[in-house]
Amino acid sequence: MFKTKRFLLLTVMALMSVMILAACGSGSDNKNASSGEKGGDNVLERIKERDKIVFGVKYDTSLFGLKNPTTGEVEGFDIDVAKALAKEILGDETKIEFKEVTSKTRIPLLNKGDIDAIIATMTVTEERKKEVDFTDIYFNAGQSLLVKKGSPVQGLDDLNKDTTVLAVKGSTSTDNIRSLAPDAPVLEFENYAEAFTALKAGKGEALTTDDSILAGMAASDSNYELVGEKFTEEPYGIAVKKGEKELLDALNNGLETLKSSGEFDEIYNSWFEGILK
Ligand code: GLU
Repeated sequence: MFKTKRFLLLTVMALMSVMILAACGSGSDNKNASSGEKGGDNVLERIKERDKIVFGVKYDTSLFGLKNPTTGEVEGFDIDVAKALAKEILGDETKIEFKEVTSKTRIPLLNKGDIDAIIATMTVTEERKKEVDFTDIYFNAGQSLLVKKGSPVQGLDDLNKDTTVLAVKGSTSTDNIRSLAPDAPVLEFENYAEAFTALKAGKGEALTTDDSILAGMAASDSNYELVGEKFTEEPYGIAVKKGEKELLDALNNGLETLKSSGEFDEIYNSWFEGILK
């Protein structure tokens, strides 16, 4: 009698642990841009199954990804390239969803599966290649400085311990400025809108990031200008989760098609003609 009870107890315990293990297994796999979604061995397959691609984009960066407060739509070069790629991959540019990322949050959100790809002014670097895979380069920027017109800061050489530089967390710009102007204090912000507001409020002498992003700020307020030469190379790529070769190939093929059809240049000119030299 006692033995039978013990046998039953052990059997129940064994069964319970099998059930717990099974539940854990199904919860940790298959995490992707639409939570709870099933199926698909890779991200491209899941994109095709759900018939929608989820891009992480900037919401605060003029010319690349900026939320229009009147319409609620996000607009910019990255947005239009993303839509054109959705058309290449899914046959319709509206089969797309945008989620906001910042320089700091974009890689964690990608690796968590909240987004399928990042198209957000993101420089391809060796460091980042350890965490994500990048498509071919689709835009070439370079780091520069934005100052109030008439500022004594006219280039990298004018930065010293008395000139505070404003930058954004998680960007290459922050690391670069620390090594190129090591004496200058750096104040870091969550995003570019906050950094520009801080420059306008006099919280620093210069704002540093890619010339392409600074050009958007200068275009929005004529009291500010870019100064000096660009002092780094910032080639932009679209990032996908490491090992997602099928999605990477689809995006690269899409970029290639857009370039050879002339559509890529059309999108480029619609945003940068007269703004970038
Ligand atoms: N392109 C630079 C970077 O990837 C600066 C722009 C940004 O912060 O997104 O870090």
